[in-house]
Amino acid sequence: MILLKSEREIRCMREAGRIVALALDAVGKVVEPGITTQELDEVARRTIIEHGARPAFKGLYGFPANICVSVNCEVVHGIPGSRKLAEGDIVSVDCGAEIDGFNGDSAITIPVGNVSPEIARLIEETRNALYKGIEQAVAGNKVGAISHAVQTYAEKAGFGVVREYVGHGIGRSMHEEPEVPNFGFADRGPVLKAGMVLAIEPMINLGTRAVKSTDDGWTVVTRDGKPSAHFEHTVAIMPDGPEILTRLA
Ligand code: MG
Ligand code: MG
Repeated sequence: MILLKSEREIRCMREAGRIVALALDAVGKVVEPGITTQELDEVARRTIIEHGARPAFKGLYGFPANICVSVNCEVVHGIPGSRKLAEGDIVSVDCGAEIDGFNGDSAITIPVGNVSPEIARLIEETRNALYKGIEQAVAGNKVGAISHAVQTYAEKAGFGVVREYVGHGIGRSMHEEPEVPNFGFADRGPVLKAGMVLAIEPMINLGTRAVKSTDDGWTVVTRDGKPSAHFEHTVAIMPDGPEILTRLA
């Protein structure tokens, strides 16, 4: 069942989204060669707690950390640890926070120092693909309109669109109905209504779309070993259009 949020509930979700945005902003400011992914986790945790919220990923399905940190060929669900970031790496940081019973969810991919032009383009176009999807998050469209916009944009740019992991509804639970795939036909899926809140999150590979999971049971990597980028926003469908909740004003 797709749960519609009241104005009051969307106000709570604005606050959850704002705190996620602050945490990602704080992480983005400390990313540099030599920092460990565990240190990024600590920066996010501290920011979330300082604002009175709870790191929502900690313990979710048993996830052992506060944020997901995925480096280079890691697509999603990387576990922070002792790995040091190096010049030319890219790091995807996925962050969730819960406050007053409501969740926010957002992800960004950050270059570490100078990256190659093709990797810079992957990051830029993945962010663009997210915004193409958000433009379609309009009452009266179907979920597939978002999916189709993301897929056509990313594939036209020459990249692989991951299919195994998808966006989702979000509210009191981190993951609610409906699923929001990053591929598909515009006329498929549930009709979007004002009051729906969706996490839209393209995962885009420099090479092919094929991915596989790894021995730690969490980290997903590209099969061809090429880099992958991930951008995500929590978006409320308002009567006058999409409102991004995980963006700083
Ligand atoms: Mg996320
Ligand atoms: Mg998500």
